[in-house]
Amino acid sequence: MYKLSMRVTWVKNYNFDLCVYLSELQYFKSNNIRMKFQVNEKGYYGDFGGAWIPEMMYTNIEELKRRYLEIIESVEFKNEFEQLLKDYVGRPSPLYFAARLSEHYGSKIFLKREDLNHTGSHKLNNTIGQILLAQKLGKTRIIAETGAGQHGVATATVCALKGIKCVVYMGALDVSRQAPNVKKMKMLGADVVPVHSGNKTLKDATNEAMRDWINNPEDTHYIIGSVVGPHPYPDMVARFQSVISAEMKKQLRAQTGNELPTRILACVGGGSNAAGAFYHFLDDEKVELIGVEAAGKGVDTGETAATLTVGTPGVLHASKTMLMQNSDGQITEPYSISAGLDYPGIGPLHAHLHKTGRAKYLAATDEEVLKSVLLLTQKEGIIPALESAHALAALDKIKMNPDDVNVINLSGSGNKDMETYLNYFGY
Ligand SMILES: *Cc1c(COP(=O)(O)O)cnc(C)c1O
Repeated sequence: MYKLSMRVTWVKNYNFDLCVYLSELQYFKSNNIRMKFQVNEKGYYGDFGGAWIPEMMYTNIEELKRRYLEIIESVEFKNEFEQLLKDYVGRPSPLYFAARLSEHYGSKIFLKREDLNHTGSHKLNNTIGQILLAQKLGKTRIIAETGAGQHGVATATVCALKGIKCVVYMGALDVSRQAPNVKKMKMLGADVVPVHSGNKTLKDATNEAMRDWINNPEDTHYIIGSVVGPHPYPDMVARFQSVISAEMKKQLRAQTGNELPTRILACVGGGSNAAGAFYHFLDDEKVELIGVEAAGKGVDTGETAATLTVGTPGVLHASKTMLMQNSDGQITEPYSISAGLDYPGIGPLHAHLHKTGRAKYLAATDEEVLKSVLLLTQKEGIIPALESAHALAALDKIKMNPDDVNVINLSGSGNKDMETYLNYFGY
């Protein structure tokens, strides 16, 4: 655009200085519009992000930063990625018009069925992308952290698919409350390492995985499970998950005649399913974006994981973001009934979307979430994951008009949560 305006300037013999100035303004403007919600070359989303890594992790991160875009933008990578998404994951996932739920709320509600993916959640979109990347980087060993066990299963699955050694770090408390997923990972051939430090949950597992990576920089790739951690992970994971919103656009156009919905709702732990569901709508500012965090027992009770509601800026897991901490900068232990949202931080993209007001963030309590689980189960015959039900619970907190098109990203299936459901509902 810059060059073009200059040429036009000469031909038409306008005031040269003024036109260059205007075209520069326009250049920055168009650049800003495109880049406003994307990571910059330094790895920042506005004030958040970056790579706040110890010296010893520099080599690992530099290699990834230097090569990730060239690899994932290559035709060869794209072909392999898309083929596996289609034939192995089972994409595209349906966009389902939930008629009885819509009737209940008096507004049109669509569900993006990530629960129907192989392994039961959106997590496989990312691990497929990262295992292909690891292979292109020549890595022969994979490490991962996991909370609910869903990311661990998704990682162990792609390692089995490609015949690559896999070590999964998991908080000891999560190991005990997610036994079926632990057994699945082992059956898939992964080593599951219980982590006994801290709260024995996801944060502690992540610390342990980072320690492992520092000690094994040559042969190991670390598959992070959400849009968190040092640059380039938040951007890389968001790109892999963005297939969700790319499909949504096409499906909405086919089903409603308009590729833009009124609003999109997604639950937010680290924020990867929400990032994927928002991605291709970020610049369409008419589309309302709503992230839903885990309020736990209530945002004022101290037993919560609602990072954006109670958090303040700080650095966690090598990224500057919003996090739950006390006045000394000590991390506050998060709480949620759903292990997948039990994280004291949030991806830097969401901290930025929150700060700029591009997305709105609500919080749903355990009790509200369990009510929504039962509602979806009995209105639509779909048992959602506890995490995904946070997005559903937000429908009770917003104003909707009858003609609104609401899309809920149904991030995962309730299979892994059956024990919790049976205990709570008493069937
Ligand atoms: C892991 C998980 C989440 C939370 O992770 P995000 O990165 O915030 O998407 C949400 N839903 C399900 C089903 C999960 O397994």
